[in-house]
Amino acid sequence: MSKKILEVKNLETSFYTHLGEVQAVRNISFDLHQGEILGIVGESGSGKSVTSLSVMNLIEDPGEIKGGSIRFSPNVDDNFIDITKMTREQISQIRGNDISMIFQDPMTAMNPVFKIQNQMVEVIQRHTDLNKEDAIRRAKDLLGQVGIPDPEGQITDYPFQFSGGMRQRAMIATAISCNPRLLIADEPTTALDVTIQAQILELLKKLQNKIDMSIILITHDLGVIAEAATHVVVMYGGQIMEKGTVRDIFNNPMHPYTRGLHKSIPTATKEKKRLIPIEGSPPDLLDPPTGCPFNPRCPHAMTICTEESPKMYTVSDTQSSKCWLMDEKAPKVKGYKKPKGAK
Ligand code: SF4
Repeated sequence: MSKKILEVKNLETSFYTHLGEVQAVRNISFDLHQGEILGIVGESGSGKSVTSLSVMNLIEDPGEIKGGSIRFSPNVDDNFIDITKMTREQISQIRGNDISMIFQDPMTAMNPVFKIQNQMVEVIQRHTDLNKEDAIRRAKDLLGQVGIPDPEGQITDYPFQFSGGMRQRAMIATAISCNPRLLIADEPTTALDVTIQAQILELLKKLQNKIDMSIILITHDLGVIAEAATHVVVMYGGQIMEKGTVRDIFNNPMHPYTRGLHKSIPTATKEKKRLIPIEGSPPDLLDPPTGCPFNPRCPHAMTICTEESPKMYTVSDTQSSKCWLMDEKAPKVKGYKKPKGAK
């Protein structure tokens, strides 16, 4: 197995509003290894974006990382640093250099009154020793790498002169300008049409291979996960419901929420199948339900589900599921086969 570069353990992030504490991320743990593309998937409000902002240490007042650790290894040796304990100056050395981020809507992420060149050169010069001339050369080279047809001529365009897909490519070029070890892509294809979406995902995979970086891909779309991710974390109500390889999550989903997500997305087969939505709404994180957060919407909910939170059960070497149905004492449920050896 490749080297671990990120270890998130018992992370808890909350926001304090006049109505009370919003428990956006509740005690989650996951690892990321070099070269992996980890897809974090879930509905709006599941805590996936807050998780990525926590990893960047971008949670600001009235929010806070309440507990847990985020250990990151910025270099090739095995030294880990806890991002939650870093000062503002220390974290600014890591951000943009070792960890970079691209956002959902590149039009709002880029400054509309500055040319692409100015914005890229500013980032490159902030994180390297390159002089302006060399930084411009580097920016043009990066635009070429991400598929901008005429980097020489188009680098002096303003963002509004670029299409949505080209703006996202320019954002990706800026994000990879310092060869980060970890790239966080928060819904990078949501604002784009499906053809451009496929091109951007293909580009991310190509760059991941070339730079040997790892990627955390935040999305609400299982199709994006299937296309790009190697590993998957399924989030709901601020918690991780299931995690595994992309094969585990698509061929053998064990959690009722993951199964519900599968049933609610269209497939490309000719077979006509009714889509079955997950009834109900995501939980109110000001006052989340006791026990399993999915219990008000779960077709298999039992009494214990409303009383006690299940542990994360090991399904296999690569897969685990946070559901009481995995327990050895759980009753048999129609259409649900508990894997042998789950513990
Ligand atoms: Fe459903 Fe209970 Fe499993 Fe939660 S723990 S997903 S409520 S069966």
